[in-house]
Amino acid sequence: VIRLEGIRKTFRARSGPATVLDDISLSVRQGEIFGIIGRSGAGKSTLVRCMNMLERPTAGRVVVAGQDMTALSEKALRGARHQIGMVFQHFNLLSARTVYDNVALPLEIAGRDPAHIRETVGPLLEMVGLGDKAGQYPAQLSGGQKQRVGIARALANDPAVLLCDEATSALDPETTQSILALLKDINARLGLTIVLITHEMAVVKEIADRVVVLDQGRVVEEGSVFDVFTAPASAVARSFVGDLL
Ligand code: ATP
Ligand code: MG
Repeated sequence: VIRLEGIRKTFRARSGPATVLDDISLSVRQGEIFGIIGRSGAGKSTLVRCMNMLERPTAGRVVVAGQDMTALSEKALRGARHQIGMVFQHFNLLSARTVYDNVALPLEIAGRDPAHIRETVGPLLEMVGLGDKAGQYPAQLSGGQKQRVGIARALANDPAVLLCDEATSALDPETTQSILALLKDINARLGLTIVLITHEMAVVKEIADRVVVLDQGRVVEEGSVFDVFTAPASAVARSFVGDLL
């Protein structure tokens, strides 16, 4: 459902151009939970930002749900991005809007009619376990509840893929478990494809089907979670697995 072909991303830096992603090719399959793991600065966030074209790759192609995102104009991209929901580490909720209105926002931006918005937001809040929090403001919620709002908001436009960038990194272990359980449930129930970026191998082990290991902007390892865990081929993957033992 996502295909990256030869993605390169170079940023201008004072010391000259810096290559942050170097010839990355990978495929995320329909319905799977796909982990992207790597050290800080490996290029994980830049890579997911390329998946929804918040960052334009310097070279290469991004194909999402059959559509070549790299070939689209900015205007066409705004529509195509409905295929992709995004969840952030620090939730990125609007503090002046209620839980309900945070989830309604992407629907309003997409120009959906009020009846559709009402029929969508209520069930989404139920699904993430916040049916009784619709009128609360983000400041009144725990971190885990805020992330549940973030997930409901990301699902509002019925995306084909959910991109989670360190979605559990700001949460304590117990809350992390409950958010992972929610993501697993959404994956199983809706068949939604999930891309999960994390620096925590334990998170990948818990819910991912396949994983790539990124290091210095390159894919150094790719495979099923089982294979990467039982027989890591790269030094970087070995260090991640080792951390977990
Ligand atoms: P973390 O685990 O800390 O979130 P990451 O793997 O997500 O790290 P990225 O945020 O993708 O890493 O950053 C990769 C590299 O790209 C870093 O060296 C960073 O400084 C650089 N970088 C990212 N965005 C920009 C930008 N807009 N301009 C210049 N350099 C950037
Ligand atoms: Mg990051």
